[in-house]
Amino acid sequence: MDLALRVSHYIDPAFRLHRDVTVLVQDGLVAQVIPSVGTVLRSLAPAALDLGRALCLPGFVNAHAHLDLSHLWRQVPRGLAFHEWVPAVVAARTLPATMIEGGIEDACRMLVAGGTTAVLDVSVGGNSAAALSRHGLRGTVALEVLGFDPAGADAAMQRADEVIRARFELDRERLGADAGNADAPAAPGGVGFGYSPHAPYSTSADLFRHAFGRACGEGRVCTTHAAETPEETRFLQDGTGPLRELLQRFGVKLDGFHGFGAGALELLLGDWLAPWLAEANPHLVLVHCNYPGPAGLELLARTRPSVCYCPRSHAWFDHQPWPAQAMLEAGVNLVLGTDSLASNEGLDPLGELRVAATAHPAVPLETWFRAATVNGRTALGIAPEAADLTAWVLPVGCEPTTTAEALDMLLREGPPLLAGVSQGAVIARSV
Ligand SMILES: [Zn+2]
Repeated sequence: MDLALRVSHYIDPAFRLHRDVTVLVQDGLVAQVIPSVGTVLRSLAPAALDLGRALCLPGFVNAHAHLDLSHLWRQVPRGLAFHEWVPAVVAARTLPATMIEGGIEDACRMLVAGGTTAVLDVSVGGNSAAALSRHGLRGTVALEVLGFDPAGADAAMQRADEVIRARFELDRERLGADAGNADAPAAPGGVGFGYSPHAPYSTSADLFRHAFGRACGEGRVCTTHAAETPEETRFLQDGTGPLRELLQRFGVKLDGFHGFGAGALELLLGDWLAPWLAEANPHLVLVHCNYPGPAGLELLARTRPSVCYCPRSHAWFDHQPWPAQAMLEAGVNLVLGTDSLASNEGLDPLGELRVAATAHPAVPLETWFRAATVNGRTALGIAPEAADLTAWVLPVGCEPTTTAEALDMLLREGPPLLAGVSQGAVIARSV
């Protein structure tokens, strides 16, 4: 065994609660959970953490972030409409690289401190990959491609390829003989890449097909924003509204474009991506889906992608209530994300869970915690039994006897993080 973790309360990936156990980790997986008998930890594994009164559960997976916007933390005023907010964010991309890199570093620290162990980050230049890896976090950096004009689709994919060569494959080449063997993981360790066509109002069908076709062929994650605002639906339907003006302001030629006559999910799931879709598509992560519409919900039920709800960012833009019940009935793989710090006050998953639970009291707390943890593993292709764990102080007087009581305590008390483990290695520790 590589690591032994002794805790008073452990919630396993099936959300069963175990009392007074030692969690044994080997090769990045939870290998065994055994009853604790005294403190015999050192004999079990070279790395041993005796956390005593602690609640341990699967680590949080942030299924939607833009870490390269983290330098905008507390810089963008609340209350802007989406089409007013976008130009502020686009302008921020031109700030000095040192600011952007510094923001990513700070964001990684916030993620680790909040109990996140894996991230799906949408990235323009791929520069979060090395930072995530350095902080011990795992996940996927989805390279953003966009362009409304189909003639630019090939060039956009080529730019993504350049990022892939610079950020993911060059490191492996540079390792050379030091890589040891051909099976050595590609640097940055634990972080792979995927694709992120931006959104159906900003990205052509051709570019969506290039990116999603490639992701399917290579077994990678593909993520996109979809059905985020009523303005998006309007623009896709008939080509009018504030998004038309916004795109034109960015120089997009829309002469002769009068909409597709369909909403985002009908376009994506019923047409553009349809040739690749199977009965369930967890590695396709559709972000927001705030306004899915009846036809969109039907397509979601048929194709069952991952759907990512970003509770605090959703509240930031003052959207209609998120259609949680309809999504659960559609049977999508529900995941949670933070979106960027340009539309969120922090990156802590407990903060997101609190907002989700308050906004949707009819949805069981366990459903939200699954969305924030093990469902994210499904989306990112992380093994269900991965040794990605967090352990939290169990306040004096708290003696949860069921999973529901333990999760309720975590949200209510917000106790300090005792330890974070990602891929079997300790990445945060306060004892
Ligand atoms: Zn986003």
